[in-house]
Amino acid sequence: MKTLEIPLQSLIQGNWFKLICGASFQDLPTIRSLAIAYSLAGADCIDVAADSAVINAVKEGLNIAKKLKLEAKKKGFNKYNLPWLMVSLNDGEDPHFRKAEFNPLLCPKNCPRPCEKICPANAINHNGVIDEKCYGCGRCIPICPLNLIETRSYVSSINGILPLIKELKIDAIEIHTQVGHEDDFKRLWQGLTPIISSLKLLAISCQDHENVIEYLNNLYTIISPLNCALIWQTDGRPMSGDIGIGTTHPAIKMAEKAILNKIPGFIQLAGGTNQYTVKKLKEKHLIRENLLLENIDYYQLAKTNFPYIAGVAYGSYARSLLIPLLEQLETTEKSIYLEENDDLLWHSVKIASDLVNQIKKKRLD
Ligand code: SF4
Ligand code: SF4
Repeated sequence: MKTLEIPLQSLIQGNWFKLICGASFQDLPTIRSLAIAYSLAGADCIDVAADSAVINAVKEGLNIAKKLKLEAKKKGFNKYNLPWLMVSLNDGEDPHFRKAEFNPLLCPKNCPRPCEKICPANAINHNGVIDEKCYGCGRCIPICPLNLIETRSYVSSINGILPLIKELKIDAIEIHTQVGHEDDFKRLWQGLTPIISSLKLLAISCQDHENVIEYLNNLYTIISPLNCALIWQTDGRPMSGDIGIGTTHPAIKMAEKAILNKIPGFIQLAGGTNQYTVKKLKEKHLIRENLLLENIDYYQLAKTNFPYIAGVAYGSYARSLLIPLLEQLETTEKSIYLEENDDLLWHSVKIASDLVNQIKKKRLD
């Protein structure tokens, strides 16, 4: 029997955890540290911008985590497995693929700077928006009393992405799409032909819509036959998990719809996921319980449809848990590297583990 890799086993067991660094987030030191902490905590996948500097920062973080895995085990963190590396692409306009910008010279001196206060990524200062820190959440836009803040959107370029995926040995890609983008999706998919056979996983991320089931079925026809695992990411309320516990509901609602309509593939939540998500999934019996781990033919199971969710992806919430700690690296006298600050490192891994364990230890108490 062929043994499947741990991330694929996690999908089948329904305890897959994905860290979303952000399709537009390019703050390299933070991304490197997030990769260290969440991979030591047992993340199955890390999803990042299709940018070589970002990918290399994650790879560096993953190498460091690998070296620390025995030490982590001694400290009781024993879930480390090399996570799959995923890059996100878009087939058209999408809020994940944009940056905010404004001209700071136009700001009145007495402005109380609500934009700066609301930004979850600390991406705004007196010089405007720090491009690499902005991940496009859009919260600053309506809050400016002078409407000075605009966004700059972009669409993934196939020519730039293909060599990245090949040369940097990317495990998985995620395509962000929306109902109505069928032709754009088809174009992007055709452009990806040269690398599709090398993928371990394809994820398709879409927001809810009255015609979403028909749309996902059409996409399934376009991508078939597919020789790797497939995730449908139900993108509830994008980039909002750190706002409040209620943001988790739209992703769950869409996942229920996808499960009810037997969309072929794994269903995974994102967009508004937070500390409340797993609890809510348990209450709704959408989490798989009691899967015996011995004598399983994972290879057969991977081709089956399941009446439960395969896992959860966390973005802004997972990052917001660690950012206050990681910011201390900028001011500490010791070192700017997480692995050289014992207290911050293991405190970060503990916080990350508490979140990862919500889905990994999912049985009802
Ligand atoms: S609030 Fe969101 S969109 Fe605005 S600068 Fe911060 S991260 Fe970017
Ligand atoms: S809220 Fe608007 S005017 Fe005030 S600092 Fe921010 S961008 Fe400038």
